[in-house]
Amino acid sequence: MTDIPQILLNNGQTIPQFGFGVFLVKPEDTQAAVTHALQAGYRHIDTAQMYGNEAEVGAAISRSGLSRGEIFVTTKLDNGAHRPGDARAAFDQSLKALGSDYVDLFLIHWPLPTRYDGDFVSTWNTLEEFYRDGRARSIGVSNFQPHHLRRLHGETDIIPAVNQIEVHPYLTQDEVRAFCTEHQVAVEAWSPLGHGSILGDPVVQSVAKRAGKTPAQVVLRWHIQRGDIVFPKSVTPERIRENIDVFDFELSAADIEDLSALNKNERGGPDPDKF
Ligand code: NAD
Repeated sequence: MTDIPQILLNNGQTIPQFGFGVFLVKPEDTQAAVTHALQAGYRHIDTAQMYGNEAEVGAAISRSGLSRGEIFVTTKLDNGAHRPGDARAAFDQSLKALGSDYVDLFLIHWPLPTRYDGDFVSTWNTLEEFYRDGRARSIGVSNFQPHHLRRLHGETDIIPAVNQIEVHPYLTQDEVRAFCTEHQVAVEAWSPLGHGSILGDPVVQSVAKRAGKTPAQVVLRWHIQRGDIVFPKSVTPERIRENIDVFDFELSAADIEDLSALNKNERGGPDPDKF
């Protein structure tokens, strides 16, 4: 079984550095995909209320033969449920759908500066309740820029354990990553494969050739060696196995540099300051 590194979070909890994402996995395909991932050695699943597949993630876990404690589960607050009362009801619903009395990590999915009067602070205070009552072992944010994080630092008690942001070789996010490192917020890289778009890049292809690995594997290895947490998505069993097979080789410093130099600050997803 693959030995996946664990990352120590700022609250003493640990998270597997490598996991499985289920964004855009249809509910009817989710149980099978998560089952393949668990069989391939993944022990960290990243879902969200907005993905509409928490129940199927829960079903795959409960039928896996693994104990709940062996699997790290993240879910995220729906954008329509930022008000404290709505957030409480949505969190209860997530636990029910996942069939568990806790989640390992619960995130604010987007800061939504243009909604709820830009008040993600009271939303964060509500997540702090879930952390204090033990139903969320860790809490964090997603798509937060340094100025959003600074507000939480100034106005709330608990520092987010993670910030989940879009990162891949076309969007290296050096500034946000440096801010997070300085403030002990672990970085999770979403769309680590650029949603597949970067795999045909000639530089990615040539690094893959040098390493004797596939383009997806060298890009995932680039994230691992930079220290970010990743959870690539696939519903294809061969790719699910291929993606986790990145712990038996190392990229050279020159390979890492070549991939990092592809940065063009190009987002595949929305701009968190406008969305
Ligand atoms: P990804 O970068 O993981 O790319 C997935 C796509 O890449 C697949 O649909 C497939 O087309 C292709 N692919 C996967 N493995 C491959 C392989 N071995 N060879 C060739 N092609 C391959 O994109 P993603 O799903 O957007 O991101 C991963 C996870 O990040 C999501 O599932 C979700 O959990 C999370 N996410 C979070 C947010 C957020 O706002 N917090 C946004 C997007 C995604």
